Amino acid sequence: RFVSLEGGEGAGKTTVLHALRDALREDGAEVVSTREPGGTPLAEMIRDLLLDPGHEPPAAETELLLMFAARAQHVRETILPALERGAWVICDRFTDSSYAYQGGGRGLDAGLIAELERRVVGLQPGLTLLLDVDIAQGRERTRGRDLARGANGPDRIERERDEFFERVRATYRARADGEPARFRVIDASQPAQAVAAEAVARLREWRDA
Ligand code: C5P
Ligand code: MG
Repeated sequence: RFVSLEGGEGAGKTTVLHALRDALREDGAEVVSTREPGGTPLAEMIRDLLLDPGHEPPAAETELLLMFAARAQHVRETILPALERGAWVICDRFTDSSYAYQGGGRGLDAGLIAELERRVVGLQPGLTLLLDVDIAQGRERTRGRDLARGANGPDRIERERDEFFERVRATYRARADGEPARFRVIDASQPAQAVAAEAVARLREWRDA
């Protein structure tokens, strides 16, 4: 009952998150919807440190460890307690984001990430929905979002080149190919409502299987 949403910038994860939450609630379930980096007060502070445009971007290793520090707290304080009482947990990004961004994007060793995943996180979503969209279209969708974002300042989309996001996307797709039982890849170039409807259908299918 642990579901994660993954994808690049402007893939529409947040819209899908709300649709999944509403659908499961309609079906009578308790749902905790949460996000990474973040999802607890401490982890949200780490998020602000990571995304603060007021200082230089952190070294790749610093970024990786802060992501896992936030995730360690999130798992223990939010995700595990919810799962233990029988709630659904829907998470906007989880460890696959570290493989994609810190691994594929920033070039850090996937073996180190796997070791942190095993020793620090210790759980994986049962279902991961990958919202796949090409870089140009994602970029177009996030245009203007940064202005409204306020304290978090310019998103990573403004700082990195297309090649970075191509590596992120390729890493996600390779992971989805490697774990077909866990992943469902959704074509996120469709209109938002169609993407959300497909995500809800995939989730119900998985739940009812
Ligand atoms: O999910 P959202 O797009 O709000 O993520 C916030 C920012 O954090 C994005 O710019 C994303 O690229 C970045 N991020 C990252 N590594 C992660 C998770 C998120 O660089 N593991
Ligand atoms: Mg989002």
